[in-house]
Amino acid sequence: MISPFAAGMYGGLGVAAGAGLAVGAYAYASLWPGSRIFGAAITAPARPGELALTFDDGPNATWTPRLIDVLAQHEARATFFLLGNRAAAQPELVRRIATAGHTIGNHSWSHPNLSRTRSSRVREELRQTSETLQQITGARVKFFRPPFGARRPAVFRMAREMGLEPVLWNAMTSDWSEPSADRIAEHLMKKIDGLERRGRAANIVLHDGGHRDAAANREPSVKAAGLLLERYARSHRFVTLDAWI
Ligand SMILES: [Zn+2]
Repeated sequence: MISPFAAGMYGGLGVAAGAGLAVGAYAYASLWPGSRIFGAAITAPARPGELALTFDDGPNATWTPRLIDVLAQHEARATFFLLGNRAAAQPELVRRIATAGHTIGNHSWSHPNLSRTRSSRVREELRQTSETLQQITGARVKFFRPPFGARRPAVFRMAREMGLEPVLWNAMTSDWSEPSADRIAEHLMKKIDGLERRGRAANIVLHDGGHRDAAANREPSVKAAGLLLERYARSHRFVTLDAWI
């Protein structure tokens, strides 16, 4: 799950500010999806009309299959940032995502805040997840999204050393805590339409899983994905992140 910038949970980041950045600047560099201070990452290119639906924190035994069905109804492809430990427990479901033509990315093994995780563990979280996903699907994993969007310079460097392209986002709402699919979709549509006016594609985050709860109810998020697919089916192109590298 990803929390908006400056959420209370990140209060502890101030301890790292000794690195030379003021507290606010460190938090910005570490957490703000548009910041490149701690390394470049894919957000979205200047290609209005392209939408990348991305789903984090899965796979989820109930909602990921439903989501695959919704995407299939619209013949749309998406990108799934999976947690290694959930993937290892549900290899059939991971294969189903891949077989349906979706792109699978690395979202770490256990969803730690990598801005506060020692390098040896960061490397292990990424390595173990990529290896597990590759063993299950037979395909190389190319993309990595840090949990909470949190990073420090070493995190993206290690990801790149492992052949992983870091990915952030530019359209998100608190779908994990919003029970109304309509409201989730409405918030995202506002962001997507605003990005479009500024000449940008949208890299949209929704959650088909929950990093704290393997059985999280993601019905609102899956329904919201369906609403976005309906709204933009004729006017936009749904792409996976492979289209942007
Ligand atoms: Zn997450």
